[in-house]
Amino acid sequence: MEETIKKNERIERTALVTGAGRGIGRAIAVRLAKDGFDVVINYHSNQQEAEATEALCHEANPDIKTLLVQGDVSDEADVQRMVEESTAAFPAIDVLVNNAGITRDNLMLRMTPEDFDAVLRSNLRSCFLMTKFVGRLMLKKRYGRIVNISSVVGLHGNAGQANYAASKAGIVGLTKSTALEYASRGITANAVAPGFIETRMTEVLSEEIKKQMMSRIPAGHFGHPEDIANAVSFLASEQSSYINGQVLSVDGGMQ
Ligand code: NAP
Repeated sequence: MEETIKKNERIERTALVTGAGRGIGRAIAVRLAKDGFDVVINYHSNQQEAEATEALCHEANPDIKTLLVQGDVSDEADVQRMVEESTAAFPAIDVLVNNAGITRDNLMLRMTPEDFDAVLRSNLRSCFLMTKFVGRLMLKKRYGRIVNISSVVGLHGNAGQANYAASKAGIVGLTKSTALEYASRGITANAVAPGFIETRMTEVLSEEIKKQMMSRIPAGHFGHPEDIANAVSFLASEQSSYINGQVLSVDGGMQ
C-alpha cells in the first residue's frame, strides 16, 4: 500500500526544451520525461519530428504530460506566445533548456554578415529571449533551473566557425550573468558545452574534419545525444541547487 502511494506521488514539475524535435534536444526531452517532468517540446519547422519526440517521451514515462509548441525562439512575439501556451497548459515552467541552435560555417574572409547575424540570432538572442520571458515566471515562483547548451567551440574557438563560436561564447556570458541576477530567488543558470556529438548537425561534416576531431578526443569515440541529456538531467534537478553560473564540458576529454 505504502509502495503504491509513493509510486503515485509524482511532484508535478514542467520542463521546456527548445529545438526538441531531433538530436540533442530530443534526447534531453526524453530524459527529462523519464525523470518525471511534464515536457513542453518546442519545434520550429518540422512537426513530425516533434511528434516523434512526444511519442518517445510518453514511452519513457507514461505518467507525464507533454505539449508541442511551434515557434522561432529568436522571435520575440513567438517566444511570448509559446510561454503563454505553456502556462495555459501547466502551472509553471520549472526547467528551461535552451538547446535550439544552427551553424552557417565558413572561413572569416568568406563569411557574410548575414550568416554571422543569422547564427547569433538563432543561438544567442534566442537564449536571451527565452530566459527573459520564462525567467519572469521563475522569479515569481522563486524556483528555476536554466540550462543553456553552449559548445566547446565557444570555449576554444574553431577555424571556420567564427559566428558559431561567438554565439556559444556569448551563451557563457549570458549564463553567468543570469546566475548572478537570479541566484537570490532560488534559480540557477548553468551551461553545458558539448564536444563532438553525433547528430544531423555533425553528420554533414567531411570525413577529414571528423578524423581531425577524433584525434583530439582521448575517449576515442564521438559522443551521443544521451551523454548531453545525462548532464542536463542533473543540472535540471534539485540536487544541483548549489551549482550556479558553471560551464560543464561533456566532450570525452577533448584537447
Ligand atoms: P540539430 O540536430 O541540427 O538540431 C537543432 C534543433 O534546433 C533542430 O530541431 C532545429 O529545428 C532547432 N532550431 C534551430 N533554430 C531554431 C529556432 N530559431 N527556433 C526553434 N528551433 C530551432 O543539432 P544538435 O546537434 O542536436 O544541436 C543541439 C544544440 O547543441 C545546438 O545548440 C548546438 O549548437 C549544440 N551543440 C551541438 C554539438 C554537436 O556536436 N552536435 C556540439 C556542441 C553544441 P529546425 O531545423 O526546424 O529549425
